Amino acid sequence: MTKQEYITVKEALTAILDGVSVLPTKHVPLLEALGRVLAEPVIARDSLPPFANSSMDGYALRAADLVGATPETPATLRVVADIAAGTVSQTMITAGTAARIMTGAPLPPGADAVIPVEDTNEPWRDVERPLPTHIQIHRQIQPSDYVRHIGEDIDAGHVVLKAGHALRPQEVGILAALGVSQVPVIRRPKVGVLATGDELIPVDAPLQPGKIRNSNGYTQIAQVMALGGVPVSLGIAGDTEDDVRAKLQIGLDAGVDLFVSSAGVSVGAYDVVKSVLEREGNVAFWRVRMRPGKPLAYGKYGDTPYLGLPGNPVSAMVSFERFARAAILKMAGHTRLNRPQINIILQDEIFSDGRESYIRAVVAREGDAYIAATTGGQGSHMMTSLVKANALLIVPEGVTHVKTGEQLTAWMIDWPGSIF
Ligand code: AMP
Ligand code: MG
Repeated sequence: MTKQEYITVKEALTAILDGVSVLPTKHVPLLEALGRVLAEPVIARDSLPPFANSSMDGYALRAADLVGATPETPATLRVVADIAAGTVSQTMITAGTAARIMTGAPLPPGADAVIPVEDTNEPWRDVERPLPTHIQIHRQIQPSDYVRHIGEDIDAGHVVLKAGHALRPQEVGILAALGVSQVPVIRRPKVGVLATGDELIPVDAPLQPGKIRNSNGYTQIAQVMALGGVPVSLGIAGDTEDDVRAKLQIGLDAGVDLFVSSAGVSVGAYDVVKSVLEREGNVAFWRVRMRPGKPLAYGKYGDTPYLGLPGNPVSAMVSFERFARAAILKMAGHTRLNRPQINIILQDEIFSDGRESYIRAVVAREGDAYIAATTGGQGSHMMTSLVKANALLIVPEGVTHVKTGEQLTAWMIDWPGSIF
């Protein structure tokens, strides 16, 4: 591939993903592991449950003692112990005896089943109520009924979670149950975010003639944060090579794993990002057959992967969404690098110039189908079209016209509960 050629979205993505690697492992406190990817398998050091216990408030007993029990001919057992959750009873349950037992309390020796209080003549849960000396039971049960056996959920010594597993609240819970307080996860990618352009002023500065506020810097930092990455804000660089270099040095000093900049990668007279990369690293490609977002530089600054997004806010966000997102997720150890994609029926018409296009749209549900309408105003400076959108419709390479009623793939940037 020469530097001048336009490459496809797929080729660009492949090159970018080939250029980034999964980051090293770090042990972090359990709650900090949420959203991150396990670097090593977790092997259960204990069984879950760790001991046989009752799944109901009731009476632990021998199921054989209840054979033939009915409401008319109840079985009567002598109560010999009272076992609260968190305590252990050594009292042997022999024929004709039972122990009152609470949910989660360990089964006493000799017992093989639990009868819920509801099936006895003592269906009260009042703590003030003295332990009955005898209990009547109105039905028969099988051995193991209402008993949670040791290791029924997890056997000690077995792999509970494999390396590569992304940790959700339920995984955090299972790790807590197994006593894993420090979790080996893939380190969070540190991403240096730079905005370039002489026209840019900080967000808190008053507007001046010819100037605009730096919105991209904020969008891209927010995108990094939303992915669980660590943003390193490099601020604004003017359109000079020296200024761009100086700002990138801050990122190198901070040890960023990836640079993401916006603007300065087109063919304008002041587009200096590309020349800085050419001088200090390399440019693998800088043009992608994609809409929005044709100028997209990828290469290295020194040894650090570098993604130069277009300047227009929509192009920058969509290019980040398509390329930087996958790179950051890969570095963080994730293997599912794409957003969910669904088939939609187009409600209006789309004209394209043959580049693979990502059209801002609202997807909604209609019966069993998903329908989508474009959000209007598709100019790549129109930020409101992204605010309205919950999806990007992918018009494939080579297609120039999609008619009402035709199907397209929607790349879901949100997965709103209201429509799914
Ligand atoms: P460029 O790629 O430098 O030609 O910029 C393309 C367009 O994006 C121009 O209209 C810029 O003013 C605009 N732009 C560049 N950087 C930013 C930014 N950080 N925030 C908002 N708009 C920007
Ligand atoms: Mg510019």
